[in-house]
Amino acid sequence: MSEPLNLKAKLGLNVFKEDKERHINIKPGMEKDPRLKRAVLVCPAGLYSLNDKGEVEFTIDGCLECGTCRIACGVEVLDWKYPHGGAGVQFRFG
Ligand code: SF4
Repeated sequence: MSEPLNLKAKLGLNVFKEDKERHINIKPGMEKDPRLKRAVLVCPAGLYSLNDKGEVEFTIDGCLECGTCRIACGVEVLDWKYPHGGAGVQFRFG
């Protein structure tokens, strides 16, 4: 019997097609808003992180389109929309 996959391995089964533009962006002037740090804690794909200066950085590659960061940070902080048709995540459950 094979070992169960850990979370990182499971996420690695998904396929992501690059969109022509980022579907999540920090709104201008909100880069230092404290609400942004909530995304570091809640993003299930771990796409948000704190750099050495305590600033939030994120990458869009691997986004599950769950909307958790949008709810946690608020629409005042994040400009969030789904990728264009045919782009984004394709879930593969292995
Ligand atoms: S939509 Fe979900 S997976 Fe994508 S960045 Fe936000 S919290 Fe992470």
